[in-house]
Amino acid sequence: MTISGEVLQKFVDIVGAEDCKSHDFELAAYSQAMIFTAPTRPEVVMLTESADEISEIIKIANEELLTVVCRAGGTAGPISMADGGIVLDLSKMNKVLVIDEESKMVTVQAGCRYYDVVQELHKHGYDLPLKPWFGNGVSIGGYINGPSMVGSRVARYGTLNFWLFGLRVVLPTGEIVATGANAFENCKPTMADPWMSANSLGKIWLQSVGTFGVVTEATILMVPKPEVVQPVCFGFDSMEALAQAASKVQLANAATDIEHEDKDIYDLLGMPVDYAVVLSVTNEGYAEEVACKSAIAAKICEEGGGHRLPDAYADLTYKNTANFNFCTAKGGLFCCAAACASNESYPAIYKAVKDTWAKYGIRNGWSCWTCYPNWVQGWTIGYYDYDTQMEAYNMAMFEIQKLTMPIKDSYPFTFEEPFENFVQKIKDCLDPNGIMNPNSWFMLSGAQSRLLEAIELPGAE
Ligand SMILES: Cc1cc2nc3c(=O)[nH]c(=O)nc-3n(C[C@H](O)[C@H](O)[C@H](O)COP(=O)(O)OP(=O)(O)OC[C@H]3O[C@@H](n4cnc5c(N)ncnc54)[C@H](O)[C@@H]3O)c2cc1C
Repeated sequence: MTISGEVLQKFVDIVGAEDCKSHDFELAAYSQAMIFTAPTRPEVVMLTESADEISEIIKIANEELLTVVCRAGGTAGPISMADGGIVLDLSKMNKVLVIDEESKMVTVQAGCRYYDVVQELHKHGYDLPLKPWFGNGVSIGGYINGPSMVGSRVARYGTLNFWLFGLRVVLPTGEIVATGANAFENCKPTMADPWMSANSLGKIWLQSVGTFGVVTEATILMVPKPEVVQPVCFGFDSMEALAQAASKVQLANAATDIEHEDKDIYDLLGMPVDYAVVLSVTNEGYAEEVACKSAIAAKICEEGGGHRLPDAYADLTYKNTANFNFCTAKGGLFCCAAACASNESYPAIYKAVKDTWAKYGIRNGWSCWTCYPNWVQGWTIGYYDYDTQMEAYNMAMFEIQKLTMPIKDSYPFTFEEPFENFVQKIKDCLDPNGIMNPNSWFMLSGAQSRLLEAIELPGAE
């Protein structure tokens, strides 16, 4: 235990005894997250209620050189786990603060669950643009900071990058700053002026996994609550044919969401298909618009050699939201490998993942997903031992990163030095004592590779 009784008392004074947890049985609750890894344990967990509380805690953490890790829904796995130091549990910061119908923006506390925000917005006829993949328990702060830039509906709305219009953040030094719509009172009219609102600057917290500070509030643009949701689903004999159809659907602007599943996932769920791959196109919006776009998508798929499947096949991945859950619930261990891809490179990346995992006897599940920009995912199904799974995952990541990113052709792989150095400089300025989430480092564009750096592969040079 490196935290003295005196320091612990200071924490109790800030958040109250009830919300300052340091007993073994309390810490055990924070020793795991949703993706399987070896358990770790923090020294103290605090449930905070305001940016001011967090600021005071972080100032003490700097004096005492204690590490600080944010914990929201825990769905991103080990990156919200801490080995020693402080965990900040943000679940009490769960209020929808302002629904501004004039500017079409909603401001929420970072600990709000995605589901609760959407429920509240639906009462007013609005919705959030993106749907996180990992279910409704995902928090807004976790979604912004985690490796979760894409989600369902991305074919229509793009990434969160386009919809995030303001942040309030406690910096790693304890100072509180605000950007975009939150920059200062009545600042929304200046939003188009990046210098006035610093909205562009706010984007550095996207995918920063809590290494650049603690996000306490976010302002996000709202979209209308959809009147109708309509999926269409087609089986294809080859990935090449599917990718061409998906690309044409994209260009025709005929989809809110485009996803692709492997035959394996349907077999596993007892809904076997006769086709190698399945394309699900979902449209949401007003009834006439949805009917028109679904008809266009269906025509493109038919002309591209697709075979119509029951809509329920598409619902499986889309309406469910927690696509991820059926991989884990039915299939045992889960992991995914992901990379951004162009329409052209999509089939090659898909093949790299599938071929690599086949060497380990691992089947693909809901293996790839098309959107804009395309984001190819591979998910495994089956009961495999953890080491086999991690090794297979590493190998798949290596293959797909080689196809998409300027990485060195050996393990453990790293990004190009100039990029690394640049981000390190930002990190050093913001977090001079390196206290924020030191186990995760930053993830800006290569979430998984950062997690993997420490893992050595057998036979790797
Ligand atoms: C490799 C990988 C790829 C993924 N890809 C996708 C994807 O493409 N699309 C998708 O929808 N989901 C994806 N996910 C899941 C997604 O990352 C999580 O569901 C999401 O981050 C939200 O998680 P959460 O609320 O459970 O937060 P947690 O899992 O608890 O936290 C996520 C990260 O954010 C930090 N954090 C949480 N709250 C704050 C805050 N307020 N301020 C600062 N830091 C904070 C945590 O310390 C942690 O590092 C992916 C996950 C992994 C591991």
